[in-house]
Amino acid sequence: MRDFVQFSGVQKTYDGESLVIKDLNLDIAKGEFVTLLGPSGSGKSTALMLLAGFEQPTSGTIRLGGRTLNSVAPHDRNIGMVFQNYALFPHMTVAENIGYPLRVRKMAKPEIAERVKRALDFVQLGRFADRYPRQMSGGQQQRVAVARALVFDPALVLMDEPLGALDKKLREEMQVEIKHIHGRLGITMVFVTHDQDEALTMSDRIAVFNDGRIQQIDAPAALYERPANQFVAGFLGDTNMLPGEVAGEEAGALVVALKDGGRVRATAVDTLSRGAGTLVSVRPERLAVNPAPETPDQMPATLVETIYHGATARMIFRLGGGTTVAAQLRAGSPLLALEPGAAARLAFGQSDGRAFALS
Ligand code: ADP
Ligand code: MG
Repeated sequence: MRDFVQFSGVQKTYDGESLVIKDLNLDIAKGEFVTLLGPSGSGKSTALMLLAGFEQPTSGTIRLGGRTLNSVAPHDRNIGMVFQNYALFPHMTVAENIGYPLRVRKMAKPEIAERVKRALDFVQLGRFADRYPRQMSGGQQQRVAVARALVFDPALVLMDEPLGALDKKLREEMQVEIKHIHGRLGITMVFVTHDQDEALTMSDRIAVFNDGRIQQIDAPAALYERPANQFVAGFLGDTNMLPGEVAGEEAGALVVALKDGGRVRATAVDTLSRGAGTLVSVRPERLAVNPAPETPDQMPATLVETIYHGATARMIFRLGGGTTVAAQLRAGSPLLALEPGAAARLAFGQSDGRAFALS
């Protein structure tokens, strides 16, 4: 079922004036892992709150499993939730915390005990049943929160920046763990983050939010390879932006006269007529440094500095007109021996340069 979760024409204002959700249309399939990714204030949490039922849409409808949710109370929606600040109850043990949603649902005691045990084993915290949250690490507490969200077999689980408070290593471990849990249970997951790596790692599809709208929704690789606009190109992964003007077309490629001098061929994303201003977006790892001499469309550049990142290195160049671009190379590349100030040539393939209209 493609439309297990369905937002149709949803708008939301808190103050009656500005719409923080402008026109949200989003279909999520049963079993899908969809991430809402976007900068702070873009409306991600509001979208989740609407789905959870803690906020009401100003207009539009939200459906879950075909049922309109607008008038269904939060506790009747059968939705599990993990929030960054959705703390555990400090006065309850781990087992009591996990059993809480079951007690609220007036489940019989033996069944609660059985389910809590299963949930604890599931997140590998079987030995911690009688501990209090303060006696556990941040990552363990978050696993308890995950168990508590799953224990009543919800149809849908919502997670709002659940890993934000954890350090990098633990965060990455939990990302994999949550992804595995999703795979094993086959639940539908809507996950919110502002961290692009997290979104790329975890999701079946990513909805990129900005300014109360979904800018693009697609599978991680498709979003990265074919961003639909400047915002998505810049937000998801690093990108270089080369300013220029459309000089014409040639064998299906857009020919762009760069502000920094020279011409390049690129793939037009927007409709662009001759003479129109454009920005050509190129990923750092798609920029070839000192390619074979016969390579077309080379851009002369000067090396500014090289920054080491362990497995990769970033070379920062300045083009003729002053535009700065970054190229990413593997550690060990002989090109990394270039000294700052050295002259170099840069080039990219036509399909790796994506030309956007100026916005
Ligand atoms: P995100 O989760 O992407 O950071 P939010 O959905 O929290 O974004 O917020 C979107 C906008 O709505 C922001 O401008 C925020 O200040 C505003 N907002 C969020 N919650 C409320 C609220 N309860 N009352 C008023 N304004 C709010
Ligand atoms: Mg938020």
